[in-house]
Amino acid sequence: MILIKSAAMLAKQLGMARSDNKSVGFVPTMGALHQGHISLLKAARKGNALTVCSIFVNPTQFNDPKDFEKYPVTLEKDIELLESNGVDILFLPDVVTIYPAGTATLQHYDLGFLETVLEGKYRPGHFQGVCQVMHRLLDLVRPDDLYMGQKDYQQCMVVKRLIELTGMPVILHPCPTLREADGLAMSSRNMRLDAAAREKAVAISQVLLQVRTAVKAGPLAPVMQAAEQTLRDKGFTVDYVAIASADDLRPVPDWDGRQQLVVLAAAYLGEIRLIDNMFIHLPEPN
Ligand code: AMP
Repeated sequence: MILIKSAAMLAKQLGMARSDNKSVGFVPTMGALHQGHISLLKAARKGNALTVCSIFVNPTQFNDPKDFEKYPVTLEKDIELLESNGVDILFLPDVVTIYPAGTATLQHYDLGFLETVLEGKYRPGHFQGVCQVMHRLLDLVRPDDLYMGQKDYQQCMVVKRLIELTGMPVILHPCPTLREADGLAMSSRNMRLDAAAREKAVAISQVLLQVRTAVKAGPLAPVMQAAEQTLRDKGFTVDYVAIASADDLRPVPDWDGRQQLVVLAAAYLGEIRLIDNMFIHLPEPN
């Protein structure tokens, strides 16, 4: 594996790969890697001749400065994990490489409805930050294929929109959520849970499974409200449990029993914010 910090060196290495007609698969991350990240890298290796992973904790996507300060960093372990999983290039830029003109006057992206619902509503500015970093990373890496996790369902939609807005010739591959043995969705933030909180955290995936079983054609509000209450009873501070159209995340107040749905949840245990989601009606891919 080659570790690259500068944009110029990255361009040189990728230029050589392209002149050999190697297709480039890209997995952007914020580090503190776990098997969920590795599953994306495996998909990239399967689909492309060259696999690039980036680690960059992007300051512009954190609406909560404390969350940014406390974001876990495990670089040595990450490098070992990437090396043992056959990654070709690890791109490790600093803030100046990603934002050469600073972060004060970055581009604004028209994300429409996606910007104001769910994560957009509870984390103002978050998806603008996601687009800023993804636009720059995609410009630098120019991958053929981009692999991202459905764990961040709305983020996948935002990046799809970014690709449409910019016309970049890259194919986005949303990949299934990897879970711990008890069902908790893998996440870098799980490292910050103490033993008691870790035990409680599994309730999020359990509640989503319950919603999936309980949903019937007709009004969906009672199911969502019951799920929120269950999480509150278990000690969570809930941002939302929402059932939405899997295609565009629009709310579905009254379900016809046929439309493809997704149930999404975001809730805090102490100061750690956890998110998860599952498809309803479609067979669950994992
Ligand atoms: P992050 O480092 O949290 O920014 O995540 C980098 C990529 O890994 C994103 O595309 C995430 O959606 C994806 N990812 C995070 N957790 C998981 C998981 N449990 N399973 C699959 N992909 C994941």
